[in-house]
Amino acid sequence: MIGGKVGRATSHTIRPAVALLAMASLVLAPVAQAERTRLKPGWNLFSPAQDVELGRRVATDAERQLPMLNDRRVDDYLNRVGKRLAAKAPGEAYPYQFKIVNDRTINAFALPGGFVYIHRGIIEAADSEAQLAGVMAHEIGHVALRHGTNQATKQYAAQVPLAILGGALGGNSLGGLLAQLGAGFAANSILLKYSRDAERQADLLGAQILYDTNYDPRGIPQFFEKIQNESKAGRPPQWLSSHPNPENREELVNTEIERMGGPPRNYKSDSAEFQEIKRYVLALPAPPKQGQGTRPTGGDTGSRPGAPSTRTQSFRNEIVRFEYPDNWRAYTQGNAATVAPQNGIVDNGNGRAAVAYGVIFSVFEPQTDRRGQVTLEDAHEQLLQDIQRNNPRARVSRQSVRVRIGGEGGLSSTLVNDSPVGGREMIWVVSTLRPEGLVFFACVAPENDFDTFDRAFQALVDSVRFPR
Ligand code: ZN
Repeated sequence: MIGGKVGRATSHTIRPAVALLAMASLVLAPVAQAERTRLKPGWNLFSPAQDVELGRRVATDAERQLPMLNDRRVDDYLNRVGKRLAAKAPGEAYPYQFKIVNDRTINAFALPGGFVYIHRGIIEAADSEAQLAGVMAHEIGHVALRHGTNQATKQYAAQVPLAILGGALGGNSLGGLLAQLGAGFAANSILLKYSRDAERQADLLGAQILYDTNYDPRGIPQFFEKIQNESKAGRPPQWLSSHPNPENREELVNTEIERMGGPPRNYKSDSAEFQEIKRYVLALPAPPKQGQGTRPTGGDTGSRPGAPSTRTQSFRNEIVRFEYPDNWRAYTQGNAATVAPQNGIVDNGNGRAAVAYGVIFSVFEPQTDRRGQVTLEDAHEQLLQDIQRNNPRARVSRQSVRVRIGGEGGLSSTLVNDSPVGGREMIWVVSTLRPEGLVFFACVAPENDFDTFDRAFQALVDSVRFPR
C-alpha cells in the first residue's frame, strides 16, 4: 500500500484558510515518515511466539547441516550491526541473532523469529558496511513481515493432502504442521523460498530500516547491482534461488528512498570496522569443499538418513504403546504420530512435507454397515483405497496377509509409490480393528533402502501393545 496521495484531487476545492491549515500540518509532520510505503505482515495462523519456536528448531538443524564459521569476532560484529538495524524493525521484537556461514557463495537467509545467516561471500563481496547492512536489513524485513510463516499459512490453507501423511492422517492440525516444518532444514523450502512480492516488501522495509539507522539506503540497490553483474558473468549467486529477483528492483528501492526525502542527513556508508572484518574474512582459510547436501533449499538436497539405531525409546498415548529407534523423533498430531529419522521428512518438491523414511501411526475411520459393523478385511481394504486416493501413483504390490499385532488379529499389505526423494518407495501397512477404529501403521522407505529399515519396522510393529 502506498500512502501520501489520498485527497490530492480534492485539495483545490478547499477554502483558502483551510488549505493553509492543511499546509501547516504537513510541515509539522515528520518529513521522513511522510511518504514511506506502509508495510505490515500478511495473514498468519501462527503466533509470533510460534515463529520463534519454529525458527529455533529449524535453526538448530540448519547449523548442523551448514558449514558454520563459528568465529566470535565476525559473529559479534554481525550482531552489533544487526541488532542496531533490528531495533528499527516494526512490529514484534524478535530475539534476533546473526551468524556467519563459511561459504563463499553470495547468499543470506532468515528463519522465522529472527535467526539470520550471512554467508561469508556477502562480506567478501560487499564494498561497504551500508551494502552489508542492506542485505541484513532485507533479511530482517522478511522476519518482521513474517514471510516464512505467512507462506506456511497460505500453504496450509490450500493444503491438498500432505502426500501420505495428510491423506492417511486425515485432519492435519496446525501443531502437526509446525512439527513437520520444524522437522528439519531440508524440509523447509516453504519457509525460505519467497515470492517476488515478499522480496519487494523486504527490499522496501530494508531501505526504511537503513534510513532509520542512518545508513545510506542506497546500499541495497548497490548490492543488487553487484548480484546482477555476477549473474551476467555466468555465476548466478545462490541468493537468487531463495530470493527471486522482483522486476525493477533497483528502481523500486530508489523510488522509496526518494519518497523518504533522499538519503538521511549525515548518513553512514562505511566503517573502518567493516573494512577490517572484510580483510580478516578474506584472509581466512578457504571453506571446506561442500557436497550438495548443504544447500538450504530444494527437495532433493537433504542427506539420506543414517541407519536406524537398535536402541529404542517408547512412544505411548491413550491408544497404543510401541518402541522406535532412539535416533528417530516422534511428531504427534492428536492421537496420530509419525516417527522418523533426521531427514526422513522432506519437501515433496511442491513445498509440502512428505514422509520419505519413517512410520506413521494413526486411526482410520472405516465406513460401517447400517448396524455400525465392519469386518477387518473390509476396513483394511478401505484404508488401502484411501491411501491410493491420496497418493495417485501408489499401487498395492502385495495383497493382504493375516498377521498378529499387539496380541490382536491384523492384516498386512505392501504398496509401492513414487518416493518424494526420487525413485520408488515401499509402504508396508499393518492394521487391526480396535474400539477407536482401524488402527494402522504405515512404514515407509525408498525401495532401494527398504532393507536397511525393514528390521526397525518389524521391531516397531512387534513391540506394539494396546493398553486398553
Ligand atoms: Zn529476500
